[in-house]
Amino acid sequence: MSEVLEELKQILASKKTAGIESVWLSEQNRHLLKAEIPAKRQQNNTPEPRTANPIPLPPLTPAPKPAKPPVVACPGISAAQLPLNQYGWEELLQAMQNCQACPLAQGRKHVVCGNGCPQARLMFIGEGPGEEEDKQGIAFVGRAGQMLTHMIQAMGFDRNSNNPKDAVYIANIVKCRPPKNRNPSEQEAAACLPFLQRQIALIKPQVIVLLGAVALHFLLKQTGITKCRGNWLDYQGIPVMPTFHPAYLLRFEGQKNLFTSEKRKVWNDLQQVMAKLKIC
Ligand code: SF4
Repeated sequence: MSEVLEELKQILASKKTAGIESVWLSEQNRHLLKAEIPAKRQQNNTPEPRTANPIPLPPLTPAPKPAKPPVVACPGISAAQLPLNQYGWEELLQAMQNCQACPLAQGRKHVVCGNGCPQARLMFIGEGPGEEEDKQGIAFVGRAGQMLTHMIQAMGFDRNSNNPKDAVYIANIVKCRPPKNRNPSEQEAAACLPFLQRQIALIKPQVIVLLGAVALHFLLKQTGITKCRGNWLDYQGIPVMPTFHPAYLLRFEGQKNLFTSEKRKVWNDLQQVMAKLKIC
């Protein structure tokens, strides 16, 4: 009987090698195998499974373990280091420069961390770097940036000053350029926001100006820049003035009346900021 069993096992092994997962067996052979399987299971102290015909062959190789999801990490930030909310400027800038935490890292030329005086009283926040900013690694240097520079000068501030009295700091929600200047996604903004939050915590500006709907949405979770602009909001005790993004104003350059009226709205908002900072 054991010779028959051995022969049967060899046949099954050759089928298994050939990739055949199940075979039909005669009743006699099934009885032979059934007598063998409980004996082995008893040795292994494992429960007997329900029988099924045809008898399934054991898998040739163990099932592959599910692949671990890729680790999305910011190399500048590791568990061994301080938490981000305790970073000083040096660690923070290094973490931003090394960051790979969202897909925007793939297409960037430069990480645009932010520019200006770290002790500035006034902070401007836009949505993300554009083409020129990505090339130069400096915030707001394209056409919209030039318009913002003029606005800052008109307010009596200087974006190149290091004197906290008249200096500004300019940053964005995301530090790397979204492709084709699209808006940052929720995932990208969520990955990058802790950097901006730490920048604000270090600068402690007296007033923040939010430039456009995207900055308003991601920093304060509010929608409707047209409705919100010109009204004071709050970010952790800091007064926030939302206004239109300079790129929005540039859309009306060819329509003189509209351009003037939209610019006037922004200027009214900025005058409120100047009053708050008591420089009027
Ligand atoms: Fe990191 Fe922000 Fe750049 Fe995304 S956009 S890679 S979170 S620095």
